[in-house]
Amino acid sequence: MRDAYGVRSTAHGANLIQLTRLGSINAFFVREDDGLTLVDTMIPGSAKGVLAAARVVGAPIVRLVITHAHGDHAGSLDALVERLPAVEVAFPARDARFLRGDKTLDPDEPQDKPRGGYVTVDTRPTRELSPGDRLGSLEVLDARGHTPGQIAFLDTRDRTLIAADSWSTLGGLQPASLTHPRVLVPGIATWHRPTAQASAAALRDLRPARLAVGHGRVLEQPGPAMDAALARVEDLE
Ligand SMILES: [Zn+2]
Repeated sequence: MRDAYGVRSTAHGANLIQLTRLGSINAFFVREDDGLTLVDTMIPGSAKGVLAAARVVGAPIVRLVITHAHGDHAGSLDALVERLPAVEVAFPARDARFLRGDKTLDPDEPQDKPRGGYVTVDTRPTRELSPGDRLGSLEVLDARGHTPGQIAFLDTRDRTLIAADSWSTLGGLQPASLTHPRVLVPGIATWHRPTAQASAAALRDLRPARLAVGHGRVLEQPGPAMDAALARVEDLE
């Protein structure tokens, strides 16, 4: 574990490196043969720390992907792309519209108002991702509900689930269909709770060996804890 410019790096297994700011906001490096995939960029002001962390790993950032259009995930995107002109940039196809500044909902989506801090970015993606696509070793997963187009990733080499804000471990493990009474994020920023609940359950069904989330610590062998958390939600219904 080490810190640079306020970004703490923690390795989990052979291929995942957790980057954390303020003890609660995560991004991740995924190691690939050709370099690193950066999943999310944290809040504004994180670029220096992310680049320093990549130097410590000793590999270039070759891909950058955003899980959803909230500012604590896309906040340092433009600053990083400015410093990494050759990087491949991938956005989730649906949330790419939010990142361009279009906050409209489609007629077939739940008409709840999107919540939380959506950001508009100058960067245009080189690629848009939909569930079923692949990005290096990562399989793209449907994680909508927290936002209309959130995506998550399964590293098929070791079944690491990068769940974005569909699950949180801050203050204890729970799906983002619920708002934690003390820590609030990310549940308070969830758009449509039934959709978020269905996504959280579908991700659990993938039998992840490791759970990495947007907020909170990384869990090993998370299955039983995810089952218990989903059962608690059912009790509340
Ligand atoms: Zn979020």
